[in-house]
Amino acid sequence: MQMIINGEKRDSANGKVIEVRNMATQELIDTVPAATVEDAQEAIEAAQLGAKIWSQTPVYQRVEILNRFSQMLRDNKGELARLLSTENGKLLVQAEGEIETAAAIFDGFAAESKRLFGQTIPLEIQPGLEKDLMITKREPLGVVVGIIPFNFPAELFSFKAGAALASGNAFIVKPPEDDPLTVIRMVELLHEAGVPKNVLQVVTGYGEEVGDYLAKSPSIQAVSFTGSTEVGTMIAQNGAKNLSRVFLELGANDATIVCEDGDLDAAVDFAIAGRLLASGQVCCSNKRILVEKSIYEDFKAKLVDILSTKRIGNQLEQGTDVGPLINEGAAIKVEEQIQHTIGQGAKLILGGRRVNEAFIEPTVLEVTKDMDIAKDMEMFGPVFALMPFETQEEAIEIVNQSNFGLNSSIFTRDITKAMDAGNKIQAGVVSINGGTVYRPICCAFGGYKKSGIGREGILYTLEEFTQIKSIVLRGVM
Ligand code: NAD
Repeated sequence: MQMIINGEKRDSANGKVIEVRNMATQELIDTVPAATVEDAQEAIEAAQLGAKIWSQTPVYQRVEILNRFSQMLRDNKGELARLLSTENGKLLVQAEGEIETAAAIFDGFAAESKRLFGQTIPLEIQPGLEKDLMITKREPLGVVVGIIPFNFPAELFSFKAGAALASGNAFIVKPPEDDPLTVIRMVELLHEAGVPKNVLQVVTGYGEEVGDYLAKSPSIQAVSFTGSTEVGTMIAQNGAKNLSRVFLELGANDATIVCEDGDLDAAVDFAIAGRLLASGQVCCSNKRILVEKSIYEDFKAKLVDILSTKRIGNQLEQGTDVGPLINEGAAIKVEEQIQHTIGQGAKLILGGRRVNEAFIEPTVLEVTKDMDIAKDMEMFGPVFALMPFETQEEAIEIVNQSNFGLNSSIFTRDITKAMDAGNKIQAGVVSINGGTVYRPICCAFGGYKKSGIGREGILYTLEEFTQIKSIVLRGVM
C-alpha cells in the first residue's frame, strides 16, 4: 500500500519501503513507504490548509461524514478484520471486535461533538463588571498528530482521529511500522466518506525518523501518542520546546488482586482472557497477579489446568487460542525477560519457551515482590506472574510500588475492601470483580505516574483537542 498525503497515494520520496509480514507464516503481505522528513513536511503543509477548511465546516456536516464512515467500517468489517489479524497476529475474532469498537468510537465522538457547547456567564459576580456578558466557545487546536503503537492500531487510530476530526482539527497519523495496513485502509475509507483530502494524512515510516519529525514540528498544535514510556518521554521533551500539547498513553504493569472471598473461577477466567488477548501485548492486561495466600494454590492449579489446554498457532485458523507476537524481536525480548526473571529466583510453572520464531508459550511464573517483573519491567507476552499475599495492605503496597499505574482490579465480595482498594490504588482505573482489561469507549482512560498524561475517551478527548475562547459583550446587561 502507499501512504496518502494531500489525497494522493504516494511512495516515499526516496523509494524506500518497510515490509509487512504475517508472523505466523513469515509471508510478506505488502510493503509501505518508509517516508522521509520531506514527505512528512508536505503532510504538515497540506494539513495546515486542511485545518482552516475543516474548522469552518459545520458540525452537522462533519458528523454526517463520520457517521457514514462508521457504517463503512461495519460494512467492510470482514475485510478489515482479516487484514488486521494477518498483519498484527491477533486472533480473527479479536480483530473483528476491534473493528466494531472502532466504529463505535467514531459514532461516539460524532455524537458527542454535537454537544461541545460553551457557556454564557453574566459577570455580575464581580464589582464593576455588572453590565458585561461573557460567552465561551470551544475552537479546534489546528493540526493534531497521532502516533499509534502496534497492538491496537484500528482502535487507537479511532480514539485519536475520531476525536480530532469530530472537533474540527486536521489530523496526521503515523501508523506503527509492523502493522500499518489497516490504518491506511481506514484513512482511504474516511476520504471516501467525505473527509477532505488535506484534512487527513497518513505518513508511514519509522518512528525515530518521521514520527520524531512530525511530533517536533513547530507547525503542529498537538501530539497524541500511545506507545512506550521511553518514546513518550522524548515526545514530551520535544513538545515542550514548541509548547505544543502532548497527550500520552504509555506503558504499564497492571495488577489484579484476588482475595479469598472473591469469585475464584471468575478471577481465573478474567486473568486468562486478559493475558491471552493479543498474545499478552495489551497495555492494560493483568501483568501481575496477586493472590491471597489461603487460595493461592487453588488459583495456580486452576490457571495451569486451563492454560495447558490452550493452543498456539495461526491467528486466522479456528481453534487457535494464542497467535504470534508482533515480530521475532518482540518474542526474543519476552524470552529474555522470562530468563531474567528466572535468574532473579522465579519458579517456572508452565511454558517459558519461544517457538517458531515469534510465538511464546503461555507461561506461568511464581515471582516475589522484589523482582523487576513485580515492579517496572513491562512484559508484552502471554506471561502470568503470580505472587501470594497475606494482607490487603501488603497487596496494595505491591501494586503501588510500580512506577506505572494504568488499570488495576480486585476480586472480593466485601464492598469495604473493594472501596479501600478503589481509593488507595494509584491507577487510572480500578475494576472491581472484573479484569484489568477494561476500556469502555466513554472511560476516562489514562495512566497515573509513568503510564501517561491526559485521559482518552469519548467524553474527554474532544475537550483536550479544543481550546476555550471567551467573547465578552461589554456593557450590554
Ligand atoms: P513504541 O513506543 O515503540 O512505538 C509506538 C509508536 O511510536 C510507533 O508508531 C513508533 O513508530 C513511534 N515512535 C518510535 N520512536 C519514536 C520517536 N522517537 N518519535 C516519535 N514516534 C516514535 O511502542 P510499541 O512497541 O508500538 O507499543 C507498545 C507500548 O505501547 C507498550 O509500552 C504499551 O504498554 C504501550 N501502550 C499503551 C497504551 C495505553 O493506552 N496506555 C495502549 C497501547 C499500548
